[in-house]
Parts: sequence; structure tokens; C-alpha cells
Amino acid sequence: MLLNLLENLMVLLAFGLSYHYVSRWFPSKPVLRQLAFGAVFGLGSVVAMLQAFQYAPGVIFDGRTVMVSLAGLFGGLPGGAVAILIAGAWRAMLGGVGAFVGLTTILSAGLLGILARQLLKDHWPPSWGWLWLFSMVVHLTTLACMFLLPVNLSVEVVREIALPFLVFLPLAGTLLGLMLAHAESVQARVISLHHTDWLFGEAQKLTNFGSWEYDVRTDTATATPQFFQIHGLPETTRGHTLKDTLKLMHADDRERVRQVFMESLRSGEPFDLQSRFTSHDGRNLWIRLVGKPIVEAGKVRQVVGNLIDITVRMRSELELRESQSRLQSILDHAPALICICDAVGVVKVASQRFRILDMAEEELIGKPLYELMPREKNLEQWLDDLVALKAGERIEFEEMLRHRDGSTHTYLTSKFLLGGEKDDQVCYISADITDLKRLAMEREDLVGQLVVKNEELERFTYSISHDLKSPLVTIGGFAELIAGDLKAGREKSAVDSLSHIRDAVADMRQLIDGLLKMSRSGHEASHFERVSLQDVFDSVRLLLHGMLEEHPVEMVAAAGLPTVVGDPLLLRQVLQNLIENALKFRVPERPLKIAIDWFVKENGTVVVSFGDNGQGIAHPDLERIFQLFERGAGSNSGSGIGLALVRTIMVRHGGMVWAESDGPDKGSTFFLSFPYAEQG
Ligand code: ADP
Repeated sequence: MLLNLLENLMVLLAFGLSYHYVSRWFPSKPVLRQLAFGAVFGLGSVVAMLQAFQYAPGVIFDGRTVMVSLAGLFGGLPGGAVAILIAGAWRAMLGGVGAFVGLTTILSAGLLGILARQLLKDHWPPSWGWLWLFSMVVHLTTLACMFLLPVNLSVEVVREIALPFLVFLPLAGTLLGLMLAHAESVQARVISLHHTDWLFGEAQKLTNFGSWEYDVRTDTATATPQFFQIHGLPETTRGHTLKDTLKLMHADDRERVRQVFMESLRSGEPFDLQSRFTSHDGRNLWIRLVGKPIVEAGKVRQVVGNLIDITVRMRSELELRESQSRLQSILDHAPALICICDAVGVVKVASQRFRILDMAEEELIGKPLYELMPREKNLEQWLDDLVALKAGERIEFEEMLRHRDGSTHTYLTSKFLLGGEKDDQVCYISADITDLKRLAMEREDLVGQLVVKNEELERFTYSISHDLKSPLVTIGGFAELIAGDLKAGREKSAVDSLSHIRDAVADMRQLIDGLLKMSRSGHEASHFERVSLQDVFDSVRLLLHGMLEEHPVEMVAAAGLPTVVGDPLLLRQVLQNLIENALKFRVPERPLKIAIDWFVKENGTVVVSFGDNGQGIAHPDLERIFQLFERGAGSNSGSGIGLALVRTIMVRHGGMVWAESDGPDKGSTFFLSFPYAEQG
């Protein structure tokens, strides 16, 4: 019997070893693996039954309980069930007296295995103690099953098999269980290693890096498939050295990389470098090579590291750098003050234009803008603006800034939100609008002048049509009279009427001459130069010599009239008109006095006055008399052109004319003002 049991134990061992191979099938499908395991151990039971010890015909003993119980313990429900089915089927087929008991032992061993797997879940893999206890329970149950045999047979059988069933088979079960538990944990480790390997490979593909190991003694490198993939080499490349990797690096980088590597070998320090790289299949890459020497007994034996394809990152970095330099170039050439500030107003980027304010852009960076620009005032103001910008408001304002050369310029500034990943950024753009402003003002000025001229022209047209008509009416009327006189033979009356016509013609000529002068004074090219008003006055006095002789005039002129900038001929007309008027509007009963004086106002304006003791001017007429064809209330002679001409000329000189009088018979004073001109 012992021989049979030993044979049986050999069978158990052989099938136990087969577990290794079975468990390699379906590594990712545990249920299939358990079913296969159950099938193998079920077959093991069949082989054990073939080698069984026959106690009596139909009563056999073997190691099937060990096989089926372990199938349940290690194969769980699927494994246990398959083993029970196969072993059970075979035992049933053998038949005999012990068939029922044999089947019972198979069933109980399998079920105990399945149950124990559940109970030992928290103690997995089971220790030898648990395994021995389990085997003991299985075989005690098997022995108990023997009592299902006929009574006379059962007692004898139990006596016969008690020793092997309580010593050898539990021992064999424990040993085989230990072997299976060990095999299972090795298998689990292999599976997890395979998984880690797979994960590592996928991670390398995903992030495009390959790991390598360089053996200093043999000068060879071993590496992961992705390392060779980056090189454009087959994954199974052999005999690769780091020199081969070095050869693919850009000629300009090669020497540097070699030196860093040699230095690392010498010092034992890790390295991390970047280089351009051309793979075997002609791809131009950027790679990062990191390595860490492994030092043993003070000597570098190996270097391990990673080769990382950083082309995508480098390209975007280069693009970023390029777009940054483009932005800087725009900033440097923009004819405006431009800067970008962070949320608290600190300047991050500034344009070169700030130099015009005597601020070099390098000095601006890192400083808060509110310390540099007058409108920004302080942090509070800055933050208020930021809140407004976030609420979608527009911030635009004009500010006066002083240039390096001392001149003050008007700037139009706008602030807007750039938005940043971490924080808000504000862009500040300020353009010099001084020239634009000046042009706008000049235009406004011109438009104003044009309006005045237009009004003047309208009045002029009206006055001309009105004033030129009256002599024509006179001429027409007297012509009628002459015709009547001639018919009636009244020659004397006709001659009188003719003299009236002559007067009217003379009036008209005077009017037309005055108008011509007036129009010339407004349109003819002037020759502006430094003019001594004293010289002009002397020449007018000479011109009016005859008139002045005719009537005694007391002329008091301040010594040395000033020098102004103007057209001497036009200025002569002004002085001549004023003096002629003083003569014209004298009071015959008293000798005429003309006082000419001048002074300089605080702002440098030169004012020359012409006072007389003549008829004076009523208050309401003081302004009106400067309009074309307007005459004073008491005056019924003259064309009303003289003072309009004076005003036109003074306006052309950038000056003014006005009159003052205490009223009729109280004399009057006319004032001329000229913009500042240096005296001398
Ligand atoms: P006119 O050729 O008719 O003199 P002006 O334009 O020279 O025309 O003068 C307009 C009016 O101003 C005159 O009609 C006169 O009433 C008044 N006026 C000008 N100068 C004097 C003066 N020195 N004294 C008083 N009235 C004056």
C-alpha cells in the first residue's frame, strides 16, 4: 500500500509542478486560469486513481483528496467544481462497493477546498500551518466518510488507512500547497512585473523618452525600445554605444555634450543637457539627455539615464521666444509709450519710447507705474481703474508729460485689460497728440476767422450795393432835371444840375478808391519787417504838410515812438487815416490839439494812442464806426471806409484798434495795439 501511496505522491508532485505552466495560460483571465487549473488537478486525480491501492474489489485508496481539495483551495469555485466533476466522473465509472464513499470523499475534499479559500482570504497566501490544518480537516473528513461503508468493512478500512491518511497525505497536501502558494505568488509577481513593464513602455511612448544604461567597462549601452525609436533604429538594436548617440547630435553641440558626459564620469555627478539631434531616419529633433553615474567602491561603473525627445516643447519655446522678440521689436519702434503692468501696476514690459521722458525702459521694469506717471497717482487709483476695466468700462484720458528736453506735451492715454493666466495684466498706451491738438486749434481759429470774414463780406456786399446806389440815384435824378431844363431852355439850371452830377461822380470815385484800398489791404502780400513808428509818423506828417499848414494844429508826440513788426506802407495808411480824421472831426471854434503817446503793457503788447480835442464820439458809436461804411451819428460827410481799413490792417498785424471818448464835443482817443516786438 505504501508503494501505491508513494507513486500517488509522485503523481501529485508532477501535477503540482504543472501548475506553473497552467497558470501561464490566460494570464489576464483569472476564471479561465482557475478552470484550467481545476481540469489539470482533476486529471491528476484520475491518474492517482489509476495508481490506487486496492483494498478490496471496488474499494481503492489514493491521493485524489489531496488533488481535489487543493483544486478547490487554489482554483476557487471554478477550479474546485471542474476537479470534482472530472474526478467524480472517473470514480463513478470505476464503480464497485466503495464508489459511493469514493464520490463522497471527492465531493467533501473539493467543497472543503472551496470553503477554505473563502475563509483564508485574509491570510492569503496560506502559511504551512494553515495548509497542514486544512489537509488534516480534509483527511479526517475522508476517514469519517469511511463509515459510510458496510460496518464490518469500515472499521477494518479505517484501521488500515488511518496512518497514511492522517500523516502522509496531510503532509503531502501541506507540501504541495506550499509549492502552489509559492508558485502563485511568483506568478503574481511576474504578472505585476509584466504589467509594470507594459506601463513603463506605454509611458515612454506617451512622453517620448527612452531609458538607457551605459556600462563603463564594456563601453556599451542597453536601452528601452523607445530609446532606439528616438534614434530611428529598430527596437532590438544590439551593441549600441553612447558614441553612436553622440554622432547623431548636431556638430556644434557634440563637443559640449561629450565634455559634460566625461566630466560626469570623472566627478560622479549627474548631468542634464539639451542638444539638436538628427535621427537615423532623418528627423531633426531636440533631445534632452539626463544621466546619473552609479558609483561602486569609489569608481563609476555605470551611468543610467533618460533620453527625452523635447522637440515639440523646444519648438513652442522657440516660437514663444520669437514672438516675444517680435513684440519687443514692435514696442521698440512704436511711436507711443507702451507698457504692460501686472495687477498692482508693476511694469513688466516697456517700450523704448519712454526714453523721451528720460526714463530708460530697463529702469521702468519692476517699478509701479503710479510712481512714474502723473495721472496714476497711487495704488488706490490704479486698483479703482482695474475694477472699472473689469466692469467693461473704457479708460481714456489726456495728460501732460514733460519731455527730456524740458518741453511739455499732451498725451492721449488708454488703458485696457490684457488678461493673464495667473493674474490680470493691464496694457497702457499713450500717444503724443500735441501736434494734432495744435492743428485742431489752428483749424478752429481759421474757421473762426472765416466766419468773421464771411460776415464782413456779407455786410460789405450789402453796404456796397446800398452806398454805390445813392450817387447813381443822384446822377439819375439830375440827368432827368437837365433834360427838362434843356427842353425849357433853362441853361443855368442845367449847369447847376451838372455840377451836382459831377459831385456825385466824385463821391463815387472816392468810394471806389476807398474800397480798392480796403480790398488790397486785406489781400496784397505784405512785407513784414521791423518798422519804426517814429519814421512812419514823420513821413505822414510830411505827406499831410499842406493840410496841417491850412489849419493850426498843436501836435504833441512822445519822443521816439516804438519799433514794431509790420508792413511800413500799411502802417502809414493807418496813421494817415487817424490824423486825417482828427483834422476832419475838429471843432472849428477851438484850435485842434493832437497828442500822440505810447506804452508797453505787462505782457509786452505795445499800445500807441492818438488823442484829440475834436467832436468826440457818442458812446453807442464807439464800436460801430469801425465797420465798413459806418459813420458817426453827427457826421454826414465821408465814406465810412477809413476806420474799417484801419481795423483790417491792424488785424493783419496781429493787433487791434479801439476808440475811447467821453461823448460828443469831448474829444476822442484812438488806440493801436501791436504784439510784442523787441525795442531798439
Ligand atoms: P469817414 O471816411 O467817413 O471819415 P471813417 O471810417 O474814417 O469814415 O470814420 C467813421 C466815423 O467815425 C466818422 O463818420 C466819424 O463820425 C467818426 N470819427 C472818426 N474819427 C473821429 C474823430 N477823430 N473824432 C470824432 N469822430 C470821429
